[in-house]
Amino acid sequence: MTTGLLRGANKTGHKGWTTEKCIMCSTTLDFYQGYELKNIYYCPKCLSKGISAYFCAADARKVHYKCPYCKSELKPYFE
Ligand SMILES: [Zn+2]
Ligand SMILES: [Zn+2]
Repeated sequence: MTTGLLRGANKTGHKGWTTEKCIMCSTTLDFYQGYELKNIYYCPKCLSKGISAYFCAADARKVHYKCPYCKSELKPYFE
């Protein structure tokens, strides 16, 4: 299960699924739709700083899976 991955990203208390936007192109990343999860990447370092650093697959590829903000490696949201 992937619910643990949302820790820190979701401060509302309910460990539900949420919708984020790609930080680069503002595409809506819908965490409800399981089939799309594999297209979502995130930067754990930026997330831990409170930045919603989520990336769509196209942008993740564009930045070569490196966070353009802190240069750490992007992780696939769904592994
Ligand atoms: Zn994008
Ligand atoms: Zn980052």
